[in-house]
Amino acid sequence: MKRRLIIGAVLLVACSEPTAPGRTAWYSFDFAGDVFRWPESRVPVRYYADTRSNMRDLVERAIGTWEDQVLYGEFSGEMVNDSTVADVIVTWFDSVPPNVPPPPDNGPPVFACDGVTTLQLDSTGTALAEPIHTQIRITTAQVYTAAQVAACLRRVTIHELGHTLGLLQESPDQQDIMYSTVQVSAPSARDHQTVQVLYHTAPTIAPAPR
Ligand SMILES: [Zn+2]
Repeated sequence: MKRRLIIGAVLLVACSEPTAPGRTAWYSFDFAGDVFRWPESRVPVRYYADTRSNMRDLVERAIGTWEDQVLYGEFSGEMVNDSTVADVIVTWFDSVPPNVPPPPDNGPPVFACDGVTTLQLDSTGTALAEPIHTQIRITTAQVYTAAQVAACLRRVTIHELGHTLGLLQESPDQQDIMYSTVQVSAPSARDHQTVQVLYHTAPTIAPAPR
């Protein structure tokens, strides 16, 4: 039986009550007890990015951000130009933002975009059946400035790539990059600690064979 793990950065949570900050130094990353992370033999992880607009820049930047969270190269990523050899495929969900450098956005975070990351398990339930797929979506419910969209894309791409590292849960704390509606632009100390714990935990799910 195939199981499908779908992890999304939710655009609008139904409940607007603030979530109580977590008291632990790290948050959970398992999916119903299963743990996924890249084994040493599969590092650097191969990322393919949609060739339209600045997706490649966004993905490269997010890879670098996560590489900075590990001390000994437990995770690293590289870009590949051929999606058929990729471990992770990142694409636009539908609309593609213009590839123009926006002015810096210094305002509060707005939810001008969101994302979804899908891990498809094989029939054994102990390995991925295919590359991890991440889709980044520009939300059109409201008109945002190019700078707001660009800032949202940067933080949401880091968040979604966090899922591709194996952070399979959302953080309960809005100061963390893995909070469901991403408010911050970089991983927190708690995100950092969580990645460290994950990459020193034995995985129960293997990557898809290359
Ligand atoms: Zn998420």
